[in-house]
Amino acid sequence: MGRVTGSIRTAGCERLQYDYAPGLVPEEEPGSFTMWRYRSLLPISDGPVRYPLPIGGTPLLPAPALRAGLGTPSLWVKDETRGPTASNKDRATALVIEDGLRRGLETITTASTGNAAVATAFGAAAAGMRAVIFVSVDCQEDKLALMTQAGAWVFQVPDGYAAAVDLSRAAVEEFGWVDRNTGVNPLTTEAKKTVALEVWEQLGRRMPDVMVAPVGDGPTLVALEKGFAELVACGLAARTPRLVGVQAQACQPLVRAWLGADPRPDELAPGSTVADGIAVLRPAIGDAVLRAVRSGDGAMVAVSDSELMEAVGLLASTAGVGAEPAGAASVAGLRSALRDGLVDLDETIAVLVTGREIKAAGSPTRARVAVAERLDDVRQALRAPEA
Ligand SMILES: *Cc1c(COP(=O)(O)O)cnc(C)c1O
Repeated sequence: MGRVTGSIRTAGCERLQYDYAPGLVPEEEPGSFTMWRYRSLLPISDGPVRYPLPIGGTPLLPAPALRAGLGTPSLWVKDETRGPTASNKDRATALVIEDGLRRGLETITTASTGNAAVATAFGAAAAGMRAVIFVSVDCQEDKLALMTQAGAWVFQVPDGYAAAVDLSRAAVEEFGWVDRNTGVNPLTTEAKKTVALEVWEQLGRRMPDVMVAPVGDGPTLVALEKGFAELVACGLAARTPRLVGVQAQACQPLVRAWLGADPRPDELAPGSTVADGIAVLRPAIGDAVLRAVRSGDGAMVAVSDSELMEAVGLLASTAGVGAEPAGAASVAGLRSALRDGLVDLDETIAVLVTGREIKAAGSPTRARVAVAERLDDVRQALRAPEA
């Protein structure tokens, strides 16, 4: 197969020729390795999945040059940048929307300034739902452009991110919208646990010894623990891996809590790290993170911005994987854990690369962006003719 029999020149262009026959094109179903493969372990009833974008089934890469560089022969990169909006937020978004569609709901909301907001806007667009997103006033133009291009309504909340969360949740109560707020809706953790099930399958139905993941609000790591524990509960595996959670030095509330030490002010400064995706001052499910790390005999580590940027470069130059700083944090965290003897070089290690920044084409649609302080402002803006 794949045998070239010659080549011809047509219009100044060389075309390779094969020994053409029907058997050269495979007859099996095209690959459909998606998150829904694990639907027996997801809280949705039978019936066809309506969510239209492909979710999950991301590659587990051997990354030989990265292995050689770090001296870790059994390292694997779980590349979560391959989803529709290039971060692991796509999984949670998909399950929350699928559940909303089944309940006949038409609007989804979340507060976020980052990848969850973009994932929600695009996922809702694909599913024919309305997305209403609450952000703080300092949300980047690029993110606003992505959200409004996908048709989302965006409300800027002057009192900051915590107030945006409050307003989004109040809208859920008042209007009966679907709640995509991270750590609040248990479906977000259920969806993200499928990463653990995939890693186990991709390793030939074997557990890694260690899995390293970035920690912001916490669902990513807590979901890994749940996914691995459920494989044990199913009788498919004998033990769970150690989990290493990674935070940025400039915002490391859970690393300090893990060490039992009080954080200094410069360790609680979310605005001053390049890893905005994990710069969370008050993690939504921080206690659950500490419990998950402890239960598997894992650890929490903090990495500096320069270590994060080195990890971004290392992933690009040795694995061909593009990542944003928060997305590359597990590689930086692994190097730190190797130095500190928390992980041995010859263990089977999986690092979770959670996301890559996507670039907007053009600027935000202003008619879809408004300031809101109270639910009345939201009600009024959505009553306007274009809404
Ligand atoms: C959200 C996010 C994280 C952190 O995930 P949590 O589940 O909030 O802990 C890490 N990396 C990227 C790229 C993210 O978008």
